[in-house]
Order: sequence, then structure tokens, then C-alpha cells
Amino acid sequence: MPAITNKQQMLTQAHAALKKKYPLDTDPAEESGRSVLEELIYAACREGTTREDADRAYTSVRKAFIDWNEVRVSTVQEVADVLRPLPQPGARAKRIIALLQAVFEERYSYDLGDIVKKGLKDTARKLRFYKEGVNDFAVAWVIQRTLGGHAVPLDGPTLRVLGRLGVVDPGEPDSLEGLRGSIEHVIPKARGPEFTELISIHAKQLCVDGTPHCAACPLKTDCPTGQDVLAKKPAEAKSRPKPR
Ligand code: SF4
Repeated sequence: MPAITNKQQMLTQAHAALKKKYPLDTDPAEESGRSVLEELIYAACREGTTREDADRAYTSVRKAFIDWNEVRVSTVQEVADVLRPLPQPGARAKRIIALLQAVFEERYSYDLGDIVKKGLKDTARKLRFYKEGVNDFAVAWVIQRTLGGHAVPLDGPTLRVLGRLGVVDPGEPDSLEGLRGSIEHVIPKARGPEFTELISIHAKQLCVDGTPHCAACPLKTDCPTGQDVLAKKPAEAKSRPKPR
């Protein structure tokens, strides 16, 4: 089990610093007005991106197709074209179509309203039944945003930031669900949606894939990766041959 106290301190500090750095114009905990099925589809757009990018893609899908049935019977290519410029539009399109197909085959409708009535655990188990269209991120997303439960959805960019901050130990996760449990232990429920939004923005703007922009990061004093990155930079500069 990782050192929760250190994680807690790091996450609390990171949350406060990122909140200052990236002021949010709306409350992420606000009701989205989306149904459970729509929130699962939105999660397929949101995973690995920011709210801004996911909103744009989701709105495009709503405008481009008459209804969810039309999305279901469309090709992966057709849906992917609408999702662009999101990264991996084909994989997202495949997931959305698979979800709609599985729900339709089971129910002959697109209404998942009844599965939220039996408690969070049962609902999560039932959502996982649509396994080609639903992953751990999507289940956690629906729990956090639609069902009023406590879950912190973890996607690639979030794990990258948490790993660099030393909050996720090397070798983790044994299971994404298990790792999520340990993060949820230190992020209070009321802060979950805001934390998710801030980490996504940070992953896109500064803590990017490849070389992070640590010099501009408000977490650089406490972040072990940031310290390494910044310590290496002057050494690299010194070892470069001087221009003649
Ligand atoms: S200091 Fe660098 S590695 Fe650490 S969180 Fe900031 S951008 Fe990411």
C-alpha cells in the first residue's frame, strides 16, 4: 500500500496550486443533463482529453446524426470523422458503436434509466456488462458525474501527471480499479469533479507527453520529476558545444 499521508499532502497541494493556475469558468459538479447512456458516450469522448475538447466532439456527434440509432448503424469511419480532432477517433468511434449495439440488442431501446435504481455497486457491475463499450474510466465517470457517487476517473494523462508527482508508484496499477480506490481514499468526494478537470487541463497544457514544461509549472518545487527535469536542463546546456 503506498504512503497515503504523502500522497494526501501532495494531492492536496497539487489541487490547490492547479486551481489557482487554471481557474474554471463553470462548476464541473454541475448536472450535465445527460442520461446514463449519453454520459457513457460522453466518457468515450472525454477519456484522455479535456472537457473543452470532449464537449466539442460530443456536440458534433449530436449534430451530425439524427439519433443514437443512426450512430449505431454508421461505420466506425463515419463516426470517427465527426469525432476528429480528438486523438484516437477510430477507437472511440468503435467503442461508442459497440456500446449502442450492446444496449440495443439487450433492450431494443437506448434507455438505461432503470439500472441506476439499485445502488452504486450494482449499477457499476451492470455498466461493466457492456464491456466492449464501457471501461473503468467510463464507469467511474458516470458514478462521479451522473450518480452522485465518489469515483475519480483515471485516464492516461491523469496517470502520467500522478506518476510524475510520485502519487502513483512505479509498478502500479495492479488493477486500475484498485489504484482508483487508493486515489479516491485521499481525494474527498466533493473535490472529485474539480480534481479531474484540473489534472486534465494540466496534462494538456504543461505536464505534456514527452518533455513536460516544468519551468512554468506551479508544482515544480514539490514534484520529483520536475526537480529532475530542471536539474538536467542546465547540465545539458553546458555539455552542448558552444556556437562559433
Ligand atoms: S513539475 Fe513538471 S513533471 Fe511535475 S507536474 Fe509539473 S509539469 Fe509535470
